Amino acid sequence: MPDIATSLAKLRSQVPAHVKIVAVSKTMPPGDILAAYSAGQRVFGENRVQEIMAKKDSLPADIEWHMIGHLQSNKVRQLVPLVSMIHSVDSFRLLKSIDSEAAKAGKVIDCLLQVHIAGEETKTGFLVNELMAGIANRETAKLDNVRIRGLMGMATFTNDHAQVRKEFRFLAECFKSLKNRFDEHFNELSMGMSGDFMIAVEEGSTMIRVGSIIFGERKINKT
Ligand SMILES: *Cc1c(COP(=O)(O)O)cnc(C)c1O
Repeated sequence: MPDIATSLAKLRSQVPAHVKIVAVSKTMPPGDILAAYSAGQRVFGENRVQEIMAKKDSLPADIEWHMIGHLQSNKVRQLVPLVSMIHSVDSFRLLKSIDSEAAKAGKVIDCLLQVHIAGEETKTGFLVNELMAGIANRETAKLDNVRIRGLMGMATFTNDHAQVRKEFRFLAECFKSLKNRFDEHFNELSMGMSGDFMIAVEEGSTMIRVGSIIFGERKINKT
């Protein structure tokens, strides 16, 4: 396994400069995060509130933490002060709860709406119809403390590249069709992981969430 700085440099050489890299550091120790930080990485993704709390204090303050995992309503209060973006907003109820906790914390928090694009039953996210209907019903209006920055999706975990491409293309189409519903800040499409980021970038991703390709395989395979 090459070292973290080498892996990051290689990854940067593979994606266009406008694509942001979220280094997914879940289960990785602070030392590994620091190695990536020393190589210039500033944005890190985690999927558990407790883990962000445990790591954040011992690491540089200019790290931007992104929450990428399924979020329970009862964890929102703890999460809001810790992160600059939440990729995994999968219900309007959750969005409203983030808005009200962000208001209490005096903060505006960037959110992505997670869309269910995979054929698999297991992946969370809005169903597209539910999302479109809710936006038409102004469920996302008048929330002053969340800024809706775009969409996030996870493709089916498969070697079938055509299937993965189809799912990413579908998400990119949803993104385009929703753009006129939001302001100019609606400009991020978070899609692509270690196994499929090249396809995601070809289909219009602006943010890839990559862990194992930077840090190596996770010992505990949390998803
Ligand atoms: C773990 C995780 C990733 C990164 O996975 P890799 O395959 O290690 O790149 C990306 N997105 C989400 C939501 C994850 O939970």
